[in-house]
Amino acid sequence: MLERVDTEILIVGGGPAGLSVASTLPDHVSAILVHQDREIGKPVRTSGGCWMRDVDALGLPPEFAHPVNHADIYSDNEHLTVDMSSDPVAVLNVTDLYRWLSVQSNADIRCATKYLGTCRKGGQFVSRLRKNGEEYEVVSRIIVDASGWHCAVLQDLGLWAPPDRRGIGIEYEFAAPFHDPNRAALFFGSATPTGYGWAFPTTSGNLRLGVGVIEPDSDQSPKTLMQGLLEGGALEKMELPKPENFHVNAGILPSIPFTSNLVFDGVVRVGDSANMATPTLGEGIRICIEQGRNLGAALGDGSPDALRRWERMVRRKLALQYRIGFEANRRAAAYTPQDWDRSVARMRTLSPEELLRFFRNDFSARMILHRGAQSITRKISRALRGR
Ligand SMILES: Cc1cc2nc3c(=O)[nH]c(=O)nc-3n(C[C@H](O)[C@H](O)[C@H](O)COP(=O)(O)OP(=O)(O)OC[C@H]3O[C@@H](n4cnc5c(N)ncnc54)[C@H](O)[C@@H]3O)c2cc1C
Repeated sequence: MLERVDTEILIVGGGPAGLSVASTLPDHVSAILVHQDREIGKPVRTSGGCWMRDVDALGLPPEFAHPVNHADIYSDNEHLTVDMSSDPVAVLNVTDLYRWLSVQSNADIRCATKYLGTCRKGGQFVSRLRKNGEEYEVVSRIIVDASGWHCAVLQDLGLWAPPDRRGIGIEYEFAAPFHDPNRAALFFGSATPTGYGWAFPTTSGNLRLGVGVIEPDSDQSPKTLMQGLLEGGALEKMELPKPENFHVNAGILPSIPFTSNLVFDGVVRVGDSANMATPTLGEGIRICIEQGRNLGAALGDGSPDALRRWERMVRRKLALQYRIGFEANRRAAAYTPQDWDRSVARMRTLSPEELLRFFRNDFSARMILHRGAQSITRKISRALRGR
């Protein structure tokens, strides 16, 4: 017989999604959060790009966010500078932020603890966990799958498969005392086929230089791309320093169409296990925090329909926006360096507001109508050609 612990809610995963669920549950709802890493917030698997307005709207401590007021966007032969002072980017100190989220919560947080699997017994779930080689069981009424791209719970119960298309990124973080702390860069083209690269200054005067690719669209590893970037002349052209004495962060996120079924008879998914990062840039932290908190409130509500209401609310907010963003993601992943030159040149014709909306995956009604009209025109011209 394994040792058994009872709780109402088991949360699997101590990233921003799981921690935000835990931080919003009312005191009378018992919860255990299991996290396979040794500590919250480390290792870092994300570059932490966000927006100052979200830091403010979500009530996150401003000292965990470094504001950036302008961005340079590069392709092989084009360059565009975007003034973002009216809507600055924030580069988050994710380690401190995630720890802060964990302190907001009354859940029993168990690090270095791996979720192994679950079986349903009566109206409950019996889950097996392992810490220091020792297994034990947790009996719960509800399980929240916040395990990121692993989809550990859904996969184990045969409810969902892990994503077959994934963004894989690697980032070198290093001291960059001479880099303008107000300047970020995004780069596209031959240095990063199928994905993109970034350079973000951080709260501590470091620079995070990263590249990401989409698998299986590309068979190149991000490490090889990073080596190519360091050995070629691209960094000098973009006036970015070369990393020395760097620390490596790496991570994976799903890159598949958003599907809005989130509640499966006692099992709920949130964050990357529900593919909630934006399809345009793969920005997930603010959405994980917002939707994690909303889910925590729905679980705390206790009424039978609260989870369905949450699911419907997420669908209303994300489904159409993410469908449009994913089309752009899919098209861009097939771009050649010449396509990227044309695309960066086209970005110049957009207003700064439209460009930032595109990056945020937050399309206005006008942009949605314009896209609808373009798609109808394409369909008509295809039909006419076929005649
Ligand atoms: C390279 C890269 C760069 C990114 N850059 C940005 C960015 O600039 N801005 C942004 O907003 N987003 C960015 N993202 C996306 C963002 O990191 C994710 O959307 C976000 O971290 C998802 O949070 P989550 O809590 O759902 O999952 P995660 O952050 O993945 O957390 C889930 C946790 O669950 C744990 N876990 C998994 N399986 C088990 C198990 N069986 N038992 C116990 N624990 C388990 C994992 O160890 C993990 O720590 C980036 C992602 C990558 C990969």
